[in-house]
Amino acid sequence: MTFKDYLRIDEYKLLGKLKKHEKLLYNNYLDFLQDHFNTNINVEVSFRKPNKKRLFGWIDLIGLSNKKYKIIVENIPFEMLGKIAHEFTHIKQYIKGELNFTKDEKTFLWKGEKNLTIKEYNNITNMSEYKEVPWEKEAYQMQDKLPILYKKSKQLKELKAQGDPNIEFMIQNDLV
Ligand SMILES: [Zn+2]
Repeated sequence: MTFKDYLRIDEYKLLGKLKKHEKLLYNNYLDFLQDHFNTNINVEVSFRKPNKKRLFGWIDLIGLSNKKYKIIVENIPFEMLGKIAHEFTHIKQYIKGELNFTKDEKTFLWKGEKNLTIKEYNNITNMSEYKEVPWEKEAYQMQDKLPILYKKSKQLKELKAQGDPNIEFMIQNDLV
């Protein structure tokens, strides 16, 4: 047990239908993300029933300006860690002041400079163009990189040591 575990009262708020081992894993993964970005964000993740049209994740943008940090992901048995890392990166960008909006909330600010308008951003239909938007570029890099780092992390090692065979199974079979 670490001092952090001893002090912790609440786990992360995870909404949606999750099995016990899934809750354990996502709590552990969020710890890993906080550690990676050196943040302490009161983040919640909502796991939704998949919708045919949207198979990815997003963040609650209205909540963001009210300091409510909520990630919404479709609960499917693959690429969950990547999707959560992507959205967590956007929240990190916002918290660290890298990503922001002009006062009229019509234009993105990236590292203090005006970037795309929200309208321009929403009108991007070309995926390679979308991935070049600076905050998306970082989020896509983290989406690929962080699940790999997580699988070698001390956090996961500690979780596996608790002996739930479902955890090992999920990781081994890329079910998250
Ligand atoms: Zn994104």
